[in-house]
Amino acid sequence: MSDWWIPAILVVALVIAGLTWRRAMAERGALLAEISRLRRQASANQAQLEAAGDELAGLAEAAFDGLVVVDRDRRIRAINAAARALLGTQEAIGRSFIEVARHHDMDDLLAAALSGSDDLDRQFFVGDRPLRARAMPLGAGARYGAVLALQDVSELQRLGRARRDFVANISHELRTPLASIRLLLDTLQGDPTPEPELMRHLIEQIAVEVDALSQLAQELLDLSQIESGQALLRLVPVRVTDLISEPVARLRPQAERKRQHIALDVPPDLTALADPEQVSRVIVNLLHNAIKFTAEGGTIGVMGARRNVTLSDSKRQGAEAGAEEVVIEVWDTGSGIAPEDLPRIFERFYRADRARGGGGTGLGLAIAKHIVEAHGGRIWAESEPGRGSVFRFTLPAA
Ligand code: ADP
Repeated sequence: MSDWWIPAILVVALVIAGLTWRRAMAERGALLAEISRLRRQASANQAQLEAAGDELAGLAEAAFDGLVVVDRDRRIRAINAAARALLGTQEAIGRSFIEVARHHDMDDLLAAALSGSDDLDRQFFVGDRPLRARAMPLGAGARYGAVLALQDVSELQRLGRARRDFVANISHELRTPLASIRLLLDTLQGDPTPEPELMRHLIEQIAVEVDALSQLAQELLDLSQIESGQALLRLVPVRVTDLISEPVARLRPQAERKRQHIALDVPPDLTALADPEQVSRVIVNLLHNAIKFTAEGGTIGVMGARRNVTLSDSKRQGAEAGAEEVVIEVWDTGSGIAPEDLPRIFERFYRADRARGGGGTGLGLAIAKHIVEAHGGRIWAESEPGRGSVFRFTLPAA
């Protein structure tokens, strides 16, 4: 009877043990749930980090400017495609910057960024290519290294030069007729009542110069409209004879004054897909040159034909081999063009022989080229100095 408390204690102990065990199991379950939540969180963070890394790498890879990241020892940690191209390297990761770029000034720029300098924006040449380079530290005190951004500025410099040349050319082209007009007016002022014959001559000369100025103004306007894409093409099927007849009629009097013969050879059923007004401008420019650069009594011809683009044409001129096209040709028996001038005559303001040209803006062929290319065609010239020239251009067949 006196030992009744032993089983009671046992029962209490068992109950306590059971409860403790259940609590421990519950805690373990919670712990496991927490661990797996943390694991999920970690793998989500990992995925986010990877996505962010991929995004950054994608951004850098797509950038037009070169980007290079170096560590504190100036070893390359990351480099994008543009920088690999600018520095002319493929394998760069892990190598020292100077070994890859072989450019001490750029390496010094990175060293300056790593030692905390700012305002690190310079221009360098890599070979003959001008580059703008900017270096920046990564993190406070450049603790993660530095980044170098590289921009190829050769196109910018070329555009700047082209703009300056353009302005210089226009000023020159304006000055010449203006100086002539000034001279003619001075003559008139010096003798306000000249002989009628002299008066007529002076007025005619002034009219010629004023015409040259208006031609320049018109051609500049045409060129700027065509270049800016404002002159939208209205492509319609047209007969090539119709494209040619108006320009020939307009210029025939000029040719007749030089006793030149114009030979036409265009099949009546030949049709092209073209903007008639624009293409007649091309033909006027080519005919005008043919007449101008051919001596008295010479011959000028206009020919049209349909043909398929040959393989060699397609290689040389980038057209699709086999496609059907119309070729229009304006030929002359004139002075011809020297081989060294031939590749440049389609440039704005280029005139091969200013002395012999006798006026002209040097814009006619540049305009013709723009118009033909806007039609998806090609224009080119062949010439034999002293014997004559042939200008050909293509249009899509209708
Ligand atoms: P422009 O005739 O006003 O000088 P273009 O752009 O029409 O300008 O022609 C550029 C240059 O190409 C001419 O100055 C001339 O030197 C050369 N050229 C063009 N057509 C002919 C041609 N048929 N024969 C000889 N030279 C030509």
